[in-house]
Amino acid sequence: MSTSPLLPNFWAGRWQTGTGAGMALFDPVRGTELARVSSQGLDLAEGFRFAREQGGTALRALSYGQRAALLGEVVKVLQTHRSAYYDIATANAGTVASDSAVDIDGGLFTLGYYARQGATLGDARLLLDGQRTRLGKDPLFQAQHILTPTHGAALLINAFNFPSWGLWEKAAPALLSGVPVIVKPATSTAWLTHRMVQDVIEAGVLPVGALSIVCGSSAGLMDPLQPFDVVSFTGSAQTASVIRSHAAVAQHSVRCNIEADSVNAALLDPAAGAGSAAFDLLVQEVVREMTVKSGQKCTAIRRVFVPRALYDAAAQAIGARLAEITVGDPRHPAVRMGSLVSRAQFDTVQAGLAALKTEAEVLFDGSQTPLLDADPAVAACVAPTLLGSRHPADARLLHTTEVFGPVATLMAYDDIEQAQALIRRGEGSLVLSIYSADAGFIARHAAALADCHGRIHAVSPEVATLHTGHGNVMPMSLHGGPGRAALRHFVWNPTVTMTPGRRARWACVQAACRPVHMSTGRV
Ligand code: NAP
Repeated sequence: MSTSPLLPNFWAGRWQTGTGAGMALFDPVRGTELARVSSQGLDLAEGFRFAREQGGTALRALSYGQRAALLGEVVKVLQTHRSAYYDIATANAGTVASDSAVDIDGGLFTLGYYARQGATLGDARLLLDGQRTRLGKDPLFQAQHILTPTHGAALLINAFNFPSWGLWEKAAPALLSGVPVIVKPATSTAWLTHRMVQDVIEAGVLPVGALSIVCGSSAGLMDPLQPFDVVSFTGSAQTASVIRSHAAVAQHSVRCNIEADSVNAALLDPAAGAGSAAFDLLVQEVVREMTVKSGQKCTAIRRVFVPRALYDAAAQAIGARLAEITVGDPRHPAVRMGSLVSRAQFDTVQAGLAALKTEAEVLFDGSQTPLLDADPAVAACVAPTLLGSRHPADARLLHTTEVFGPVATLMAYDDIEQAQALIRRGEGSLVLSIYSADAGFIARHAAALADCHGRIHAVSPEVATLHTGHGNVMPMSLHGGPGRAALRHFVWNPTVTMTPGRRARWACVQAACRPVHMSTGRV
């Protein structure tokens, strides 16, 4: 019999506890049960209706500036409970404090950013999108695109690795745009999302119905979606295909945003020498990306492209730094890297690693070093592994398999054209980072590879201490990527093309271009 409590859902404007035994949430290091979640017995259609009718109506009655002020109030509420969030992250996600910060403070920063941006919109209740455009010779008759809130609800289906940031990076623009939010966190780490939502609800800073949460099984969750609702999914490519093929999306045109997996890459300039500033920056960033949140970041570097002459030197330099990473219980002060989120993820990572090893050599294996304060038979701790391939053109899995843990593969290339072709075999990703002291090299190859990446993170020695990191998603720029990373950007407000005196034509904005970060001052 279960002893841990069932976390209630905030559904249709009231706290409702699901029925049945529910699903258990665990401490991934100690293996102890922490809480349970259940969505069983909820009237799902009622919750969506309530969000649309109560939450949506109340939010649309406000201006953009007023809604931005609400986001600011949410930040204040969350700030007062910040230490509790760190405790939950340690217990339920197995993260060290600096990794918890990426999620918790990353979420608060993102909310604060939208609050500040939204404040500049003041009393506006609709937004002009672009300039007026003449439709004929006579300038009297023109077209103007505008942005207004959709009258639906936003269903956020989130991944386990960012229970805080994953919520607020989507909820902030939705609420600012006047769209009520229903969040379904991933079960294994749902506790943090639940606690944050609970704090905001109890503080009473948002209109009732603006924010709802349902935890536990996703069975039937998408069935109540209606044409003006939106669904924003983050998770695996496998679940993404289920979401895309649901009748609400496939037949009823519910707008659907997918953020799926990604085999991101890093590229070193062939002119860089071993021990040069660009070389060292690449080494440093690869180690950071492999170990922050135990490599459980959709943006983490998975493939590292270096000129053939530097393959051995790069393997040695990355391996030497990885050897310094202590792994174990995040409560131990000497631990640098905690655990994966669950024992199930541990098994998935081990299986993925075994698959990659069929095409790669092992350049560094941290698994022989004992864990600190953690039982290897219980804890979901995985030590970092650097794989390598001297002939990546012959590999298949190395370019298409995302192992969601502290794993990356070093790859040798013969010339830059070959490196570009190999990078493209990732089939589109969230981020590519380029390391070079040559501004011209960065500019040429960023432009050449921009079409298959959501973001190009360009690092030259000038920005060594300034750049925000390969894997860090900043709210100032769009997050997502083409191809397998699967993002189809949409704005939370649908666009109306108004032709004065004629009927309005609804359209949905699909962003045609993506930002390219040029983080070196000289490009
Ligand atoms: P997942 O297993 O696909 O689950 C994602 C979410 O979908 C969870 O909330 C899950 O709920 C829910 N879900 C599962 N089946 C569903 C269904 N049939 N209908 C509706 N919802 C369903 O992914 P994950 O393992 O949590 O996350 C890891 C993946 O996310 C990685 O591949 C990573 O690359 C990707 N990710 C991408 C981004 C990005 O921005 N591109 C960001 C973060 C993570 P349950 O937990 O209850 O099953």
